[in-house]
Amino acid sequence: MSNKLARGMGSFFKPCECRRPSSCPHLYTIRFRNTRGKQAEESGFPTQDAAIERLTELHTAVEACLRQIGVEAIAVWRRLACCDATGRWSAAADVVENHAEQAAAAYSALSTAIEAERAEFRSSTAGDWSVVRAASIKAQRAKEKARWDGLPRREQAHRRTVYASMFSSRPLLIRSS
Ligand SMILES: [Zn+2]
Repeated sequence: MSNKLARGMGSFFKPCECRRPSSCPHLYTIRFRNTRGKQAEESGFPTQDAAIERLTELHTAVEACLRQIGVEAIAVWRRLACCDATGRWSAAADVVENHAEQAAAAYSALSTAIEAERAEFRSSTAGDWSVVRAASIKAQRAKEKARWDGLPRREQAHRRTVYASMFSSRPLLIRSS
């Protein structure tokens, strides 16, 4: 059996298979959403009233926690910017300097890493990445050649003819229409 409370407060039920769960001796389980929005369960409630009481308690706690998360998020924004009575936003003078320094340092570290990767990618002299890439291409070629060499002579000749004629009958430009 299952009973719904007010919207968003969760539900309670008996997980047993009894014919008349309202009068059987099994305990109620409650189902609710925790502070991370995940569905959770608790069991061991002897009566509906006990289940409802616990759901109400949890609901109040979750609401309070979400309100606190909101308050903290707003506090973080306030350190960066503030909004005046007319709704105009401006940079918060006291902390912006520090924030800007941190952001600049993070940006600089990131762009140094990107520049290094880009240089390695573009250089013809082998870096790690190009060595691995070349080895991978070589291995793939070897695999393809082994497959081809494994085909019977007649099959090789047949494929050469078929694919050569397919290739030469192709238009020079493939239009996507
Ligand atoms: Zn039962």
